[in-house]
Amino acid sequence: MTPDAILALYRWVLADCFRCGRTRVHAVRLDAIGTPSGRIYELHACGHCVLELEEERQIHAERRGDVYQPGALGA
Ligand SMILES: [Zn+2]
Repeated sequence: MTPDAILALYRWVLADCFRCGRTRVHAVRLDAIGTPSGRIYELHACGHCVLELEEERQIHAERRGDVYQPGALGA
C-alpha cells in the first residue's frame, strides 16, 4: 500500500502533532488523555508521524505473525 493510500484511510483535522511538535498541521486524532481534574488532552499526529507509526505497527504485526491492517491508529 502506498503512503498516500495509507493516509487516505484517516480523517484529518487541523491540530498540533504530539510526536514531532509541528503545530497547526493536518493531523489524525489518535486518543485523548483525561486528568484527575477533568481536563482532556487530545493527541493528534501529523502525516509524517502517522506513516512512521504505521511502519512500527507493520513491523510489530509481522514479528507476531499477524496480518498488518493499515488505518487502525487510534481505533
Ligand atoms: Zn508529527
